[in-house]
Amino acid sequence: MSEVKIDNQPILSRVLTKISNSSAVSQAYLLVGVNDVDLIKYATLFAKVLICPNNYSNPCSRCNICLRIESENFGELSIINPINGVIKKEEILRLKEKFQTHSIEGKNQVYIINKVETLNPAAANSLLKFLEEPDSNTIAIFTTSNINSVINTVVSRCQIIKLNNNSIKNGIEFIKTSTGMNEEQINKILDFLFIIENNNIKAISLFKELLINDFGTKELLKSAFMVIILGYKDALNYKLFKKMEYFNNETGIKNISDSQSADVLIKKIKFILENMQKLEYNVNITLFVSNVLIGIGEITDGKGNRN
Ligand SMILES: [Zn+2]
Repeated sequence: MSEVKIDNQPILSRVLTKISNSSAVSQAYLLVGVNDVDLIKYATLFAKVLICPNNYSNPCSRCNICLRIESENFGELSIINPINGVIKKEEILRLKEKFQTHSIEGKNQVYIINKVETLNPAAANSLLKFLEEPDSNTIAIFTTSNINSVINTVVSRCQIIKLNNNSIKNGIEFIKTSTGMNEEQINKILDFLFIIENNNIKAISLFKELLINDFGTKELLKSAFMVIILGYKDALNYKLFKKMEYFNNETGIKNISDSQSADVLIKKIKFILENMQKLEYNVNITLFVSNVLIGIGEITDGKGNRN
C-alpha cells in the first residue's frame, strides 16, 4: 500500500492515499483553502495521484508522466484559470472538445479549474452539462478560497476537501522555534494575554498564584513576554488590515485589536521590549511582572484614552 503524506494536511493526505490505493474515485473534487498558491500546488498534486499509472506515493520518481505534470508538459492535464477575473463558456467548450478527441495516456483524464467561483453563468451551465455526462474517466478538480460564492449545483456534485490553513501552523511553528515553548505553553500565555487586557488586577494575582510555577525563571518569562508581544503585533496587523502572522483569525486577538488604537498597541509592544531588557538585572520576578502588567494597563494614546 502506498501512502501520500503531506505535512500539515491530514484530510488531503487521507483522501489522496485512498485514491492512490483504489480505483474508486469521485467525479469531481472541490479543494477549499485560503491561500491561492497552496491551492494550485495541491490541485497539481491531486492531479498526479489521479493520473499516475503507478500507485502514486510522493514524490513519484518512477514515471515520466508525473515529471511532465510537474514541469507543466503533460498535455492531457488541462488547467483553466480565470482571465480578468472570469471563466467564460468558451473555455469549458474547449475542454469538452479536447477530452472527446484525445486518447488517454494516464490512468484518468483530469482537468483543473482554479477559482471555480469565477465561472460566469453560461460557463457554469456548460460545466454542469459536462459533469452530467456519464464518462467515468474524466475527473474534475476545482479550487476556491470562497466556497460560498461557488454555485450550489457545482458544489453538490463535488467531494469537498478543506485544506488546513498552513499559515496558522507556520505562525505557531515560528513561535515554537523562537521561544522554545510547546503549544500548550503558548496557549496558556495567549489566554493570559486576554486576561491582561480584560482585567489587569486579576492577571497580576493569576501570575502570582499560578503562572509563577510554569514561567518563574527569567528565560521562560522572556519567552512568555515574546508570545505576548507577538499577540499585540498580530492585533496591530489586524488593525492595519494586514494578514495576521502568528495567531491567524484568533478571535481574542481581534477583540484586542478592536478595543484600542494602533498607537496604543505600538506603545505596549515598545514598553514590554524595554522592560524585557531590565529583566537581566531584576531578581524579584513577581514584582517585575506586576510592574510590567500595571504599566501595560496604564498605556494610553497620549490623549488619556486607553482605546
Ligand atoms: Zn507517477
